[in-house]
Amino acid sequence: MNRKFKLAPSPSCACGQEDQTAEHILQRCPLLDEERKEVWPSPTPLQTKLYGSRQELEKTTTFITSAGLIV
Ligand SMILES: [Zn+2]
Repeated sequence: MNRKFKLAPSPSCACGQEDQTAEHILQRCPLLDEERKEVWPSPTPLQTKLYGSRQELEKTTTFITSAGLIV
């Protein structure tokens, strides 16, 4: 596994793989696979999830809410 060590403290994700960035949560976090598939049955670019149409943004909000993340 490709682990990075940083001097500054950073909020690492509960999965232990990466920092808890928007990209990690929305695209890659293995802990959220189930929730992600429910909201986006097919792969969706991060750009669409963050800057897409109002409908897309609502999906992103739904995902974040069901993932139990604080926005
Ligand atoms: Zn994660």
